[in-house]
Amino acid sequence: MHFFRAMIWVIIWSGSGSGSRVDYSANNELVTSKLQIANGKRIMGTELESRMIGRRLKNEFGRKIYKLSLDIGCTCPTRDGTKGTRGCIFCSQAGSGDFSERYTGKQEELDRAKARLGAKIDTGKAGYIAYFQNYTNTYAPAEYLGPLFEAPLADKNVVGISIATRPDCLDPEIIALIRRLCMCTTVFVELGLQTVHDSTAAFIRRGFPLADYDRAVGDLRAAGARVVTHLIFGLPYPSDRPSAEKAELSLESTEMMLESVRYVARSGVEGVKFQLLHVLRGTDLAELYQNGAFRTLTMDEYVDVVVRALSILPDSISIHRLTGDPPRRLLIAPDWSTDKKRVLNKIRERMVGRDQIVSDAVR
Ligand code: SF4
Repeated sequence: MHFFRAMIWVIIWSGSGSGSRVDYSANNELVTSKLQIANGKRIMGTELESRMIGRRLKNEFGRKIYKLSLDIGCTCPTRDGTKGTRGCIFCSQAGSGDFSERYTGKQEELDRAKARLGAKIDTGKAGYIAYFQNYTNTYAPAEYLGPLFEAPLADKNVVGISIATRPDCLDPEIIALIRRLCMCTTVFVELGLQTVHDSTAAFIRRGFPLADYDRAVGDLRAAGARVVTHLIFGLPYPSDRPSAEKAELSLESTEMMLESVRYVARSGVEGVKFQLLHVLRGTDLAELYQNGAFRTLTMDEYVDVVVRALSILPDSISIHRLTGDPPRRLLIAPDWSTDKKRVLNKIRERMVGRDQIVSDAVR
């Protein structure tokens, strides 16, 4: 089915323009439907834009939707001593939320999170999703979390919430809370899976088995939540055979990464977030990297795996992120990842190339 859908991608050519142009929303996600490519031809309405969550939310709510990154003061079982004390091996001290606003339920905190998006946004017209981002946002009693999850909904421009968490932190009280929230607003729940491979999961100190992920997706869907899975490309893992670079660790192969994508595609989620592995200052991963234990992906390798992953996922699964923004003050590698526009352009060019190949094949 996917092949036939790909064959009918619409390409409209025009004879002017050069260079490339891609528009981004305030959180730097790809949102436009227009691209001028180097050979002077213009492609509009490609499949990629229609699969991005920014476009889909705009269609759903009739206006642009922005995420407000919030920190409600949670921790993680891999940090507080329950399953470990040093967190996942790649995770920054801020718990994967280096751009968020501390939130205790006050409107002025929400307004500060809006201000972080930049002055260009028309705050009167824009819609927002309150994004509980830092650490594990269901790793606290439901009585503590409930009022914090509900508070942003008092703002008439907040159209829903998004909760970042782990599959092993969704006990029945939390699922009941999410079910109640789903009755009155849109609720996304983001699950940090990262990989389906046990050896990698153990090495990165993920701290839960794949079975927890399957159970969590089922429970969340039954509660009415829209489930999004987070995957990381470029993870190292200990292998028996030394790699070609004689490193102590091997990077997951493209096939291993795509196995994770296939698993997620079958798991019943509504969305996927792709993330390049960043080596950040102050993490245990940084120490390994600086000792030469592994390398990071090149831009071409990352673009290649993302494009292949996109060809695996059905259209019904929204793409929430093609690559992330590393916190520059913490980033050690890969340095090319700070040029997000270039990465997104390369992904798009590769998609357009595939589009053109398919189009030529059916002429
Ligand atoms: S990746 Fe998620 S679960 Fe792991 S330490 Fe960071 S915030 Fe916690």
